[in-house]
Amino acid sequence: MAKRKDLLLIGAALLAALILFLISRYMGRGNVSTVVARVKGEVVLTKPLLTDGRYEIPLPDGETNIIRVERGVVWMEEANCRDGLCIGQGKMRNRAKSIVCLPHNLVITLEGETPASEDDDIDVIIY
Ligand SMILES: [Zn+2]
Repeated sequence: MAKRKDLLLIGAALLAALILFLISRYMGRGNVSTVVARVKGEVVLTKPLLTDGRYEIPLPDGETNIIRVERGVVWMEEANCRDGLCIGQGKMRNRAKSIVCLPHNLVITLEGETPASEDDDIDVIIY
């Protein structure tokens, strides 16, 4: 009898793990439409994910980071920060990931559910 109970417990644990896995997968893969860059929490750039582009982000201290968007994939192409970790974070295509440049206080995320409209197209703010 004890054995059967154990099997049931293992089965329930596996099922719970599977459900959690599916949920996290679903959340991570939710449709995203917009590339958003923030410097110190302020939005400085929003661009449609499905439009290829290369965006310079001027930073308050005179530094510049360059974000690339190509075929629905986003990455940090250039950055003159000390550590270069943001470039090392590679490419992202869904909201499960974000790219962070700590020395420059810059965070890139993917947001939105529907294709971005023209109104969302804020250009880079010049400091
Ligand atoms: Zn960096």
